[in-house]
Amino acid sequence: MSISSHTGRFSPPTVDAAGRVPLIGLALPEVVTTITANDLPAFRAKQIWHWIYKRGVRNFTDMINLPKDVRVLLAEKYSIERPDAVTSLRSTDGTIKWLLSLSDGQQIETVFIPEAKRGTLCVSSQVGCTLTCKFCHTGTQPLVRNLSAHEILQQIMFARDALDEWPCSGEGKQQPDDVSKLTNIVIMGMGEPLFNYNNIVQALKICMDPDGLAVSKRRITLSTSGIASMIRQCGDDLGVNLAVSLHASTDEIRSKLMPINKKYPLAEVLEACRTYPIASDVRRITFEYIMLRDVNDSDDDAVRLTKLLRGIYSKINIIPFNEWEGSGFECSTEAQIGSFARILENAGYEAPVRRPRGRDIMAACGQLRSASIRART
Ligand code: SF4
Repeated sequence: MSISSHTGRFSPPTVDAAGRVPLIGLALPEVVTTITANDLPAFRAKQIWHWIYKRGVRNFTDMINLPKDVRVLLAEKYSIERPDAVTSLRSTDGTIKWLLSLSDGQQIETVFIPEAKRGTLCVSSQVGCTLTCKFCHTGTQPLVRNLSAHEILQQIMFARDALDEWPCSGEGKQQPDDVSKLTNIVIMGMGEPLFNYNNIVQALKICMDPDGLAVSKRRITLSTSGIASMIRQCGDDLGVNLAVSLHASTDEIRSKLMPINKKYPLAEVLEACRTYPIASDVRRITFEYIMLRDVNDSDDDAVRLTKLLRGIYSKINIIPFNEWEGSGFECSTEAQIGSFARILENAGYEAPVRRPRGRDIMAACGQLRSASIRART
C-alpha cells in the first residue's frame, strides 16, 4: 500500500457539519493567512493560538482579550470544539477508554493509561486500518479515512479537558500523589500513522511547539507496523521516539500475522531502524512483541530475536495478548512469557513484560468501536 493511496478518497473533511473551518491543527502562519483573509489583523493569530493551546478554551467567547465583534466573527467562520465522547469506560486499574465521535459521525478510540510515575495517552491516526494484522481488532475494520491534524490534536486536547490538565487555565486540579498526569503520548491507537504521514507531522509539530501544546519529543512515541520506506524520514522530520510492531522472529510467521511484512520484510524494517536518526543508548527503539501461544512465543523465537536486534539500540516490550472473541489466538502461558523474557534479558536486552491494562473495558484496540458499530446496525 503506497502513501499516496491513503490520500484522496481517504482524506478527512476540511470543514465541520456547519461549514466552519477548524482552527485547531493549523500552523500559526496558516492561522495568520486565514484570519487576515477575513480582514483581521495578523497579530490576532498569536492571541488565538495562545487561547487554544495554552488555555485550552473551547469557544471563542472565552477569548476575553479579543474585541466582541472579532469573537463573533471567529465563531461564525471557525471551530475550536472538541469531539463528543459517545462512550467513556474506566477500568478498575484506572485506564480510561473513550469512543469519540468526529464532526462527520465517524468514531475513534483514545485511551489514557495512568502508571505510577507517568500517564500515557494512546492516540489514533486513522478511522479503521488497511493492514489486517491478525491479532488486532482494528485490523478487522476496513479503513474509512485518515484523521486530520485537527482530529489528532483534538484527542490530546479532549484528554486534557477530561483530566483537567490545562497548565495555564488556572483551573487545573492538583492530582493526588498516586495518580499520574498526562505526561506521554503514543501514536499507537487505530491506524498506521505512517500511512497518514502529512497529518501526523502537522499535528505533532503543533504538539511539540513550545507555543503549542509543548509536549517534549522525548515524551512522544510513534508506533509503526514497520513501513520501512518512511521510518528514516519520520526521524528526520519529527525526532520522536520510535516503536515498531515486530511480533515474530521469522518472515514466515510475521507475514502470517502481519501481511505488510510481505512488502516490508524483517530485514528491511530492521535496516531502517538501524538508520533511525535519534536512536541512542538513552532513546532506544521499542520493539513490540505480542505473546501468542504456540505461534511466536518459543524459546527459539526469543533466541532468534536476540540475533535479529543485534546492533540496534533496542528495548523489547513483551505484551501478553488481550484475548478477543474470534481472534483465533490465545495468550501465551505465564511460564512461557517468563522464559521468553529471561532469554532476552540474559542476552543483555531490556525486556519488560507489560502488565495487561483495561482488560475489563474491551482493552483490545478497536474493540469498543466495533461494539458501537454493531449496536448501531
Ligand atoms: S496493529 Fe496497527 S497497523 Fe496493524 S491492523 Fe492494528 S491498527 Fe492497523
